[in-house]
Amino acid sequence: MDFQGPSDLHLHSDHSDGTDAPAEVMRAAHRHGLRTAALTDHDTTSGWAEAAEAATSLGMTFLPGMEMSAKYKWRSVHVLAYLFDPDDRRLRAMIDRVRSSRLERARTMAERIGRDYDLTWDDILAHTSDGATVGRPHIADALVAKGHVRDRSDAFATILSPRSDYYVALFAPDPVTAVGLVADAGGVPIIAHPAGRAGVLPDDVLFAMLDAGLAGFELGHRENVEPGIGRLRALVSERDLIVTGSSDYHGRGKPNIPGENTTGDEMVRRIIGAGTGSAPVYPSA
Ligand code: AMP
Ligand code: FE
Ligand code: FE
Ligand code: ZN
Repeated sequence: MDFQGPSDLHLHSDHSDGTDAPAEVMRAAHRHGLRTAALTDHDTTSGWAEAAEAATSLGMTFLPGMEMSAKYKWRSVHVLAYLFDPDDRRLRAMIDRVRSSRLERARTMAERIGRDYDLTWDDILAHTSDGATVGRPHIADALVAKGHVRDRSDAFATILSPRSDYYVALFAPDPVTAVGLVADAGGVPIIAHPAGRAGVLPDDVLFAMLDAGLAGFELGHRENVEPGIGRLRALVSERDLIVTGSSDYHGRGKPNIPGENTTGDEMVRRIIGAGTGSAPVYPSA
């Protein structure tokens, strides 16, 4: 079996901070003309089965994925992971730990916000699907519903900003550890939006990540900016790395549209060739 493009390998469902169920995400991808799509919820694989079923019934190829939380000093680093073994013991233990820390952290932030605004933990739960990876976007949705902010972006710029007194950091592994765990689980690790406004990670960290098995960079992403993009392009040609492009669709949670960036067939082929922990799911027809 072979996949067909166009391919979008970075989409979120309500199993993390997207607003659509996994099947709806795949329907949205299909509507926008995609033929291959990955589900990459934050720190969870729980949406894979539903997404795979929906994608293949629409004639699309499904690539299992995840966006793993990591942290370098104070800044958050997102590691996209493809085709890893979802039952790998060490990787599972790590994402379980990150998810429970996220829950704890959201409760603490809710308590702090609740001192100044009308907002309870139940309000946040009302905007979080059962078992979902909880994040600031869910708190944002509750704040919007209560009329305290206009939208998620407004919430992130004010009450939920890292500079705000309500902010609590989450536990996450360092990026080298995250990459190593994904690689050891047979997966293909790629840094998500690696050239955002915070800048590219320092060279020594990038080199350590490459030594740990980092496969490439998501250079096609609306948050990337120069000069970081240029720096990473140079590294990509020097080391013959994988380059992806994707939408980072979050349903109504962000303006990003499925297919606004795509990954070329040759790169998808390399990802499929490198992943050994799980397999793409091809349409049956
Ligand atoms: P957290 O991981 O809980 O700290 O929250 C970060 C998540 O919030 C990321 O996965 C982003 O998708 C989302 N996010 C960050 N900034 C914004 C924004 N301005 N609007 C909507 N979502 C955002
Ligand atoms: Fe997100
Ligand atoms: Fe991300
Ligand atoms: Zn994402």
